[in-house]
Amino acid sequence: MNHMAKPQQTTHPYVSPWITEEVQLFRKTVKRFVNEEFLPQEARWREQHRVDPEAWTKAGEVGMLLTDVPEVYGGGGGDYCYEAVVTEELCYAGVHFGHGVHSIAAHYILDYGTEEQKQFWLPRMTKGELIGSIAMTEPVAGSDLQNIKTMAKRQGECLVINGSKTFITNGWHTNLIVLAVKTGEGGVGAKGISLVVVETKDLQGYRVGRMLEKVGMHGQDTCELFFDDVRVPARNLLGGEEGRGFYQMMEQLPYERMGVAVSATAVTEHAVSITIKHSKERTAFGKALIEFQNTRFKLAECKAQAHIMRVFLDNCIQRLIAGKLDTPTAAMAKYWLTERECAIIDECVQLHGGYGYMMEYPITRMWADSRVQRIYAGTNEIMKELIARSL
Ligand SMILES: Cc1cc2nc3c(=O)[nH]c(=O)nc-3n(C[C@H](O)[C@H](O)[C@H](O)COP(=O)(O)OP(=O)(O)OC[C@H]3O[C@@H](n4cnc5c(N)ncnc54)[C@H](O)[C@@H]3O)c2cc1C
Repeated sequence: MNHMAKPQQTTHPYVSPWITEEVQLFRKTVKRFVNEEFLPQEARWREQHRVDPEAWTKAGEVGMLLTDVPEVYGGGGGDYCYEAVVTEELCYAGVHFGHGVHSIAAHYILDYGTEEQKQFWLPRMTKGELIGSIAMTEPVAGSDLQNIKTMAKRQGECLVINGSKTFITNGWHTNLIVLAVKTGEGGVGAKGISLVVVETKDLQGYRVGRMLEKVGMHGQDTCELFFDDVRVPARNLLGGEEGRGFYQMMEQLPYERMGVAVSATAVTEHAVSITIKHSKERTAFGKALIEFQNTRFKLAECKAQAHIMRVFLDNCIQRLIAGKLDTPTAAMAKYWLTERECAIIDECVQLHGGYGYMMEYPITRMWADSRVQRIYAGTNEIMKELIARSL
């Protein structure tokens, strides 16, 4: 029997089960905004290694910030679907804008802040007036977060902060930092860590270091931050209780990892789509590249894997919305989807030939941009540790 004789031509395009009509409408708004307002600036943003400051307030105006924060705190009042849509649309457009980190910072405040803290910071974050960052990593401590050295010592009604952070996304723009510090009061190791919210406007002793020269993601600002006898009100301690920081970070990391997982999948889908287009348009030996069996088979493999990524991601998104995404599963999503992302994009670069090595081609930038996905938000080795603990 010839299995290729009657190909099944009918296709049923897969639609993510979490896409409702309302989410679809929101996607249209975000897509239009990103294409009209951000995309024309993207090359310039890459050159200057950061977006324009106004991009934040514009994003706030269109309702793209804090989409999954309750309306009572100024947020969009939606669930994680809306965040996923914003991430996806930025990825499909190839624009790096640190909205994901901004959302992560907001979720620390939402989940652990006192009522007063939520009312004070979240509405301004929704408008893009406050630009959030999360500063954990230090020159001496990345994976080993318990080893951070930045200290916050209580002096009367103030916390006096000394230390430095590195690799901080949104570092140039940020005016609201969720900062991991040792307070020394709660105990040693994990128990000695607290989170302090630092508003940086006109803050004495605070300094942003150099904009770090990265392999990719050039449009996004990544900086060192320095704190030299910085005084913040003691009421800025997140949740008002010392020694909870490490546990708060461990609880929030699945949310952060889902952002990475969503972008890994969206970027892969986009990479496969533009590689199919390139393979149809470019010819060699008198025919389109896609007519070579190797090209077709490689693209078939990429498309199949991207689809499996999507189905797994969608399952994780649904579990996150239902409050059932556990730490090992979020770690699986972050680890596996970013590994696949890098492998598939590498294949797509190969299928582009020499053009795949030229920075002016989106596929080349995706290749450079995606490498870090296996490193930040907890390295993939740390993800395997987390998964292994559930064995
Ligand atoms: C572009 C970019 C943006 C970033 N944004 C932020 C940000 O906004 N905020 C922030 O706080 N941080 C940020 N980071 C930091 C990032 O989270 C860390 O780089 C990451 O957690 C790894 O830490 P490290 O660089 O110190 O590497 P290390 O911890 O020194 O790891 C080096 C190697 O050792 C391995 N390793 C370490 N411990 C173990 C172990 N127990 N078992 C097995 N292997 C291990 C690692 O997997 C890795 O391969 C960013 C980093 C980059 C590159």
